[in-house]
Amino acid sequence: MASSPLPMPWLEGLNAAQREAVLTIDGPVLMLAGAGTGKTRALTTRLAHLLITGKVLPNQTLTVTFTNKAAREMRDRVERLLDARAEGWWLGTFHALSLRILRVHAEAVGLKRGFTILDTDDQLRLIKQLMELENIDQKRWVPRALLSLISRWKDKGLRPAQINQANLDDFADGKAYKIYEAYQARLRTLNAADFGDLLLHCLTLFEQNPDILATYQQKFRYVLVDEYQDTNTAQYLWLRFLAGGHGNIACVGDDDQSIYGWRGAEVDNILRFEADYPGAKVIRLEANYRSTGHILGTADGLIAHNENRLGKTLFPATEEMGNKVQVSAYWAGEDEARAVIEQIEDLQRDGLQLSDMAILVRASFLMREFEERFLETGIAYRVIGGPRFYERQEIRDALAYLRLVYSPDDDLAFERIYNTPRRGIGPATLKTLATYARARGLSLSMAGDDILHTDELGAGARNKLATFLDQLKRWRIEGTQKTHIALAETVLEESGYTAMWQIAKTADAPTRLENLKELITAMAEFDDLQQFLEHVSLVLEALEADTQEKVTLMTLHAAKGLEFPAVWLPGWEEGLFPSQRTLDDSGLKGLEEERRLAYVGITRAEKHLFISHAGNRRVHGRITDAIPSRFVTELPDEHTDVVAGEGFGYSAGFSSQNRWAFNHTDPYDTPGWRRAQAFSAKPSLAAPARDVEAKGNWLTDTSDHDFAIGQRVFHPKFGYGEVADFDGNKLFITFEKAGDKKVLANFVKKAS
Ligand code: ATP
Ligand code: MG
Repeated sequence: MASSPLPMPWLEGLNAAQREAVLTIDGPVLMLAGAGTGKTRALTTRLAHLLITGKVLPNQTLTVTFTNKAAREMRDRVERLLDARAEGWWLGTFHALSLRILRVHAEAVGLKRGFTILDTDDQLRLIKQLMELENIDQKRWVPRALLSLISRWKDKGLRPAQINQANLDDFADGKAYKIYEAYQARLRTLNAADFGDLLLHCLTLFEQNPDILATYQQKFRYVLVDEYQDTNTAQYLWLRFLAGGHGNIACVGDDDQSIYGWRGAEVDNILRFEADYPGAKVIRLEANYRSTGHILGTADGLIAHNENRLGKTLFPATEEMGNKVQVSAYWAGEDEARAVIEQIEDLQRDGLQLSDMAILVRASFLMREFEERFLETGIAYRVIGGPRFYERQEIRDALAYLRLVYSPDDDLAFERIYNTPRRGIGPATLKTLATYARARGLSLSMAGDDILHTDELGAGARNKLATFLDQLKRWRIEGTQKTHIALAETVLEESGYTAMWQIAKTADAPTRLENLKELITAMAEFDDLQQFLEHVSLVLEALEADTQEKVTLMTLHAAKGLEFPAVWLPGWEEGLFPSQRTLDDSGLKGLEEERRLAYVGITRAEKHLFISHAGNRRVHGRITDAIPSRFVTELPDEHTDVVAGEGFGYSAGFSSQNRWAFNHTDPYDTPGWRRAQAFSAKPSLAAPARDVEAKGNWLTDTSDHDFAIGQRVFHPKFGYGEVADFDGNKLFITFEKAGDKKVLANFVKKAS
């Protein structure tokens, strides 16, 4: 029934395939189609159609979206089509919908009504207690890692009883399983559930109570699912239960956009839909309504490099090719951020709203550079899907250390980190300190000094407190001798704070470590600790202000399903994107997931797309040279314009073959570069002090290194090699493995 005798204005504007997806009411429907082809729109219209035609009441459909934001948007749109507010909707994320079911059936899964949902901190505390009971060394086996492992089991729909040899883990010599069991038992006693339990308990509920399941199967006469490619096993089973009876399930998704494999999502779920729901109608949409021809061509050209895909035809719905995708190389990350801000301002002058623009990054630490520039220029921005840089837990912790070193009386900082990482100073010790401090009008640190000379604390606690206070004093002395950067590195290392995240094998630990490094990078922009800390307090204050029009800053993962007229994709460098971690952990599979992520990023853009990479990125306050991402080389020439960014001039015959043969006249003459050099010239670093201004073009001055041609050297990234030539501070080195490279003398050590 492609057309209907009744006028159905809500179908207006949909193409034939979309209409089919809306009007194929009964039986399973799968819309498997590329980005921007109107899957979500068709799904939304389908829901509206079911309601407007009176086929079902709002509480008789179940609609699952990936985020609360997506759910809200869908609800708004359907309400507009309905021209009425619908009450009693079952529309939301898997977790929200599961919770709603469990609130009614708590008893059936061994919980009581009004059970609480634990946040990560609560979970962690519980895990630690249980590990203590089992005498597991928490230095060797990190509680967070165990928590991750348990969530992964839950993602797979595995309850303790279902853990077998195949999915057992060697964590704590195989004791993880036992703790999982104990953890679940504890949660029951506490009348609590964690996030993963919401789905898992539903599975148990449906499995053990066929009558309850049957009522839901009858209640939800139609099930609708967006972003089906990212469902994990537990979610998949959940849907099978609910839609299994009548099979009225409509799923939409795109195998090329599956980006949550690392969280247990199984792209196979979408690929075996037809087997799971026999007689499924598979609808393919091929017209992309979102992006211009060049953007789409770029996306297509890139994803074609993936081997594991179904392969789909995707063509632009309009003739308009639009502008080519702009691919820019910048000398440094700072130049990149600055250029992006300028482009934002240009587009704003052309009439685009700030809310039309988004910067999508692979790793959240990359946001920091942009945030600084936004604050500097006063352009309003918002960070989606996470706290802003200076509000992150690890950054606040690190800042607390620095504040405490800088001002010994900062009690808030003291309270934040006195036992983070764990150093055996417990809350009882803090209480003693606080009581004494209050009574004498002292700060906690000062109170500590006094108390150490008394017997207020037991010997053990006293020793630990003494060690900590000594450490703080030592850092304060070192602060007068070192740069603030070196000091921060020392503090983070000696306090064990960095190590705490290094051994935490959790999903978020690498991100936190990256953020800590980025903090060091941020500090390099300031002269000293005081200046930096002042900057941070100003930034934190500025974050409170609120206006409507904002540029969106978020990770690629968070951008799924969204669209913006203008999109920036910075940081396309090897190791960063594709992320080295993913490559190390999951090889080709990981690489393909990264490429899909790039595809998701590109296909968010409607009209303007800017992809960029920087040749140097300050990581950990030092310049590391970066190679453009392989994804950059995979972008099709005919849809991209390669633009010389600040400090770079490309050679004329530029193509993907010789794309990286830069022909820069004087790339060292950029502000970012000069600042970086000025910074690395600070007294405490190995390089001798230089007066940049006085020496004029000091870059040709070879006096700051003494590498001779033929000298064998070692470079941390490229390994061993021999100096072939040099130009000022730049060395041309023939590396044994990496071939010919141009590197900076500062990063090279002599080798024999
Ligand atoms: P993604 O894979 O990124 O989630 P999608 O397939 O869900 O994309 P939608 O977000 O539904 O795509 O649609 C993309 C854009 O195209 C939206 O702006 C939508 O309003 C528009 N659109 C969808 N269908 C049509 C159509 N038939 N005619 C015109 N515009 C359409
Ligand atoms: Mg969508």
